[in-house]
Formats: sequence, structure tokens, C-alpha cells
Amino acid sequence: MIEPVLRLENINKKMSDFFAISNINLELLPGEVHAIVGENGSGKSTLMRIIAGTLPKDSGSIYLNGNPVDINSSNEAKKLGITMTHQEPSLFEHFSVAENVYFDNAPFSRHFLKTVNWSKMNADCRKLLSKLNIHLDSQKLVKDIGNAQRQLIEIAKAYVSNAKIILMDEPTSSFTESEFIILQDIIHELKKSGVSIFYISHRLDEIRQLCDRVTVMRDGEIIGTESICNMETSKLITMMTGLDIKNRYPKLSLKTGKEVLKVFNISAGNTLKDISFSLRRREIIGITGLAGSGKSKIAKVLFGVDRVDSGEIIVDNRLASLRSPLDAIKEGIGYVPEDRQIEGLFMYLKIFENISASSISQFSNKYVIDSHKEKDIATSFVDKLGIMIGTIYDKAENLSGGNQQKVILAKWMTSKSKIFILDEPTRGIDIAAKVDVYNMMNDLVRKGASIIMISSDIDELIGMCDRVMVLYGGKIVASIPQSEATQEKIMYYATSGKHADE
Ligand code: ADP
Ligand code: MG
Repeated sequence: MIEPVLRLENINKKMSDFFAISNINLELLPGEVHAIVGENGSGKSTLMRIIAGTLPKDSGSIYLNGNPVDINSSNEAKKLGITMTHQEPSLFEHFSVAENVYFDNAPFSRHFLKTVNWSKMNADCRKLLSKLNIHLDSQKLVKDIGNAQRQLIEIAKAYVSNAKIILMDEPTSSFTESEFIILQDIIHELKKSGVSIFYISHRLDEIRQLCDRVTVMRDGEIIGTESICNMETSKLITMMTGLDIKNRYPKLSLKTGKEVLKVFNISAGNTLKDISFSLRRREIIGITGLAGSGKSKIAKVLFGVDRVDSGEIIVDNRLASLRSPLDAIKEGIGYVPEDRQIEGLFMYLKIFENISASSISQFSNKYVIDSHKEKDIATSFVDKLGIMIGTIYDKAENLSGGNQQKVILAKWMTSKSKIFILDEPTRGIDIAAKVDVYNMMNDLVRKGASIIMISSDIDELIGMCDRVMVLYGGKIVASIPQSEATQEKIMYYATSGKHADE
């Protein structure tokens, strides 16, 4: 039997009258990537903080390589070779990337005063970032960079700490595919050198790619630990939610109406080639394809962010000229981008201000915003959508990913848009929040709107869309009705580039 590097025995921690971590028994093996999954609030971060020394446990024991250890601070954890990357990176805003990465591990000069060797630190950091494929200027200040890159700095920081155990708390929630690939390579390398990792994520596809075993938490307890190969997705979801997954994709069967959008022979640079399709009233079309296939580009073209070289877009039987997002909004087109933190929300505004931001004209008579009306509408949305917040006066940046996404959708739902383009609307959010998003989509189509749903989660497209279009190299290679759509078929077209009618 392999001796675990880390063993938790009967760990208990009461957080409040409403929540406790109870009876946690868990082992981490050498070189293992061990996923921890569970809905928001199930206690994953709490458990990691206990291991990382930032939260004291009430009872139970922790063993490192078979020996009992006391971990009372993050410094003690670091001395024992344990480090944690946080869900919300706590970096020094006014320090450079290099200073943050090497904060705990700065190279010192050989001078007897032991001062930090700044030029070596910058050079080391440049080498490190290029080795890890992180394209970032090591001198840049953290305050000037985005969330996904901050998370990469957090990971680079763990990398240079030479820890034997790394706890990664939702590293990928702000990532797109390209950052995920960087992380995947880093994890492979850490694993090769014998580092063990606890990996928290809501994305089951990435857990399958990265992890050896998975532990499911629910309500502060461990429901089970299994090798990932023995764990079917449906079983995993049942363990997480305690519910059957019959209602995972609550697709409505509505009669679709007339064509509201027609796209004729659109081409844009090398990314879109001769794209034609149409969207009907109350229809949900799915678009998928590998990274770089052009799926997000379609969204940007239809929202007037990017231009086309040729082709025509017809909205409600009229030729539309989409030169800017404002033109698109006037045509009744709404857009929820892939990176919600950068493009979708005004993080420093309050939640109610965010909700009313895309439809401000409804609340204002020419000069004055009717703030009572604005707040009433926001409150009713927050109630209806089950957005878990303190109040509508909280800032959007304090919300979890799932709740941010719901606020963005709420924002567009108050607008008069008829056509919604949702780019990866459920990426990085937990299963319960996904179902809320699907139900919000249902509300939209029930009211007569139409949706283009761009996603790399094929199951979700099959579950929610009337038709799935597959892109390859900027072309539509297949358009498959829901009744005929299967994982295998879609993957075949997405990876081979063969046309469905060939
Ligand atoms: P997860 O990471 O699985 O989403 P957390 O471990 O962050 O869940 O939270 C688990 C529960 O503990 C939540 O209900 C949360 O509200 C509660 N909690 C977290 N931190 C504190 C705290 N400092 N005081 C009281 N309750 C807390
Ligand atoms: Mg958490």
C-alpha cells in the first residue's frame, strides 16, 4: 500500500450555527491530482483553509508522511511544504508580477546584508513565466492585469514555492480554454516531480482530464472518494446534489415562430468563412467547436464588436448594419460574453445598478433616473432568480461566479432584446447555478425571445438546444437537430472538419 503524503482524520470545524465541516477523513497520495467537487457552500474552501493553516480546526488530526502535525498558520504550512492558491487571489495590487510571484521566495544577494537581488528576481521571473508559457510582463503591476492572469500569477507563486502539496481552490473559474491549457501543462509537470494536488473545480470535463481521484463534498461532509475512471458523470452529479439528474436540462418544447435572424455568407478574415444560418422566434440554437474554430467570433460579429468582410445579416426581415454594440442593442440583440468578469459586469457598481445598466432608458424620463423603479425591478429579479446576496446594494465583484452570471442574465432580461447570444453561459459555475441559468433561458424563450448558445459543453447543448451547429476552421460543418444529436456525432464533426453532407 502506498503511504499517503497527507492524511486527515476525523476533522471537525463549526463555522456558524448553520454550517460545520464534520468527520472528514481524506488521504492525498504522492503525485496524485485529487479533485474536490461539491456545490457552492459545501465546505471545499473551508477544508482547504484548515489544511493550509489559515483556519484552525476544532478537532481531528492531520498526518504528513505518517507523522502527526500541527498547522497553525500559513507560514507553518509553508514550512511543511503545503501551499494554497486562492479562489480570489490575494496579491499586492501595487507590486509587480515578479514581486508577487517571488514574495515568499525572493532571491537574496550574496552581500552580507542579504538584500533582495531585484535584477535576478526579474530575470528569474521572466524565465519562469516563459517556461510556464504565461505571456505576461514580469514588471507590470498587478493592479493593471485581469482576473485570469492574476490566477496564473497565484499558480506561478505556488510553483516557485517548491511545495510538495498544493491546494488549488477553483483556479479555472475565470479561465478560458487557453489559460486552462497553460495550467494543464503546469500540473503535468508538478505531478511528474512528485507534487500532490487537491484540485477544486466545478468543471467536470477538466477534472476528467487532470485528476486521478475525486472526492465529493455535500453540506460539510464527504459523500465519497473514487477513482475518476470509475465515476460516471451522472453519478457524480447525483452525489453532489443529492438529487437525480432527470431535471438537469429543463428544456421546454415550444413551437418556434418566424425567422428573426438570417445570416448570409458571412466571412471575417481567416476566422469565419461563408457562414449562413437562420434563427427562429423561440428557438435555441447551439454552437460548438474546438478552441479557435470561430465560435466566439460569430458572437462578436452579431453584436457589432467585430466587423465582417462580406455577407449580410438580416434582422426581422431588414438588412442590419451592425457597426457597434449600440447598433446591435438597437436591433434587439443582447450578448453575454465568455469572460463575464471583464466584459459582462461593472464590478464596481452595485448589483441593482448592474441589472438596470443595459436598459436604463426604461427607468429614466429623459434626464432623471427613477431610482425607486430601478431598485424595485432589481429586487424582484434577485428574488426570482435566487441570487444569493446580502442586498442589491452589494458590489458585483463580491458575488460568486454563478451569481455573477445570473446578474448578467438578469441585466439583459430587463432589456427589450429579442435575440440573445450567450457565450459559455455556464462555464465555471456549479450544477445548481447551471440549472438556474437554463431556467432563465426558458423564461426568455417563453416570452418569445430566441437564443444562440455557444458552449463547449456538448451535453448541455444537446440538453437545451433545438439544433446544434458545429464549427471547424471558421466553417459550419454540421447542423444537427436535437433529436439526432449525440456526443459522438458532434465530436466527430468538431474534430474531423468533415461536412455532415459529405
Ligand atoms: P465552498 O468552497 O464549497 O463553496 P465554503 O467552504 O466557502 O464552501 O463555505 C461553506 C460554508 O461555510 C458556507 O455556508 C459559508 O457561508 C460558510 N462560511 C465560510 N466562511 C465563513 C466564516 N468565516 N464564518 C461563518 N461561516 C462561514
Ligand atoms: Mg470555495
